[in-house]
Amino acid sequence: MIRFACVLCWLLYFSAPPAEAATLEFPASLDQGTAVFLRVLDFVPGAKLTGSFNTTPFPITDDGLALIAVDMETPPGDRTLQVTLGNPNGRSETLTQQVVVNKRDYHEEHITLPEGRVSLSDKKDAERARRETEAIRAAFRVRDGLVGFQSGFSQPVQGRLSSVFGSRRILNGTPKSPHNGCDIAAPKGTQVHATAPGTVVLVGKNYILTGNTVVLHHGHGVISLYAHLDSVLVRKGDGVSQGQTVGRVGTTGRSTGPHLHWGTLVREQRVDPMRLPGVAKGEKIY
Ligand SMILES: [Zn+2]
Repeated sequence: MIRFACVLCWLLYFSAPPAEAATLEFPASLDQGTAVFLRVLDFVPGAKLTGSFNTTPFPITDDGLALIAVDMETPPGDRTLQVTLGNPNGRSETLTQQVVVNKRDYHEEHITLPEGRVSLSDKKDAERARRETEAIRAAFRVRDGLVGFQSGFSQPVQGRLSSVFGSRRILNGTPKSPHNGCDIAAPKGTQVHATAPGTVVLVGKNYILTGNTVVLHHGHGVISLYAHLDSVLVRKGDGVSQGQTVGRVGTTGRSTGPHLHWGTLVREQRVDPMRLPGVAKGEKIY
C-alpha cells in the first residue's frame, strides 16, 4: 500500500505541468509577403529570449513580442520557428513550432509608358538612381533604436488602393520586378501619417525614382517607406509618434499621378502593408 502511494505521488509529481510552462502564440501557417506577431507567453520574468525562423535569428522584446515575416518571394513550404529561453535559474529551454508558408497568387499588371520614360537613358540619371537606391537600401539595414510596433500599425492615408502589393508588373510588354509596396491614390497635399512610432532614418529629396521619400525605422529592423511625397515634414533623426504627419501626398519621382507608395519591410523581408497587424481588418480588399 505504501509502495502504491509512493508510485502515485511520483506520477502526480512528474505529470504535473511545470510551474514555468512557457508557450508560443503563433499561427500554424502564413502567406508569402506577410508579417505576424509572435507572443511568448508564461515565461519566467527576466528570462533572456532569442528566436530563429528557419535558422535566421530574430529579436524578441523583454516582454515576449516579435514581428515575424516572410518575404513576398519566399518559397512556400515548411519552416521551423524556435524560441530559446535562457531562464535566470540557469536552465535554458527551447520551444519549437512548425510553420507552413503558403503560396500567394499575385496580380499581373500591364503598364504602358512612352518609350522615353521606360528606362533611364541618361547615364547621369542612371548613376543618380543607383546611388539613391543604395541610400534607401542602407536605411533598410538599420536595426538599433526603440521598438515602436507593439500596438500594431495604421494606414498612413485613406484612399483608393490603386496598385496592390506584389503585382507582377509588365512594362510595355517586358516583365519588371514585382511591386514591393501598395499604392494609395489620394489628392495632392493629403497628409501622410506615420504607420507606427519610430525614428526617421532617411529623407530623400526628389529622388529620381521615388521622388521625395521618407523612411522610418520602428525597431527590430521593421521599416516603413513613403514615396512620391509632394513635401516632407520631418527630418532625419526625428522621433515620430503613430499618426504624426510625415509629409503630403504628391507625384514626385517616377509617378503617373498623386498617390502614396507605402512600403514595409521586416529585416529586409518585403511584406504587404495592408496585411500588417492593426491594418488588416479581415476584409477581402483585393
Ligand atoms: Zn508603388
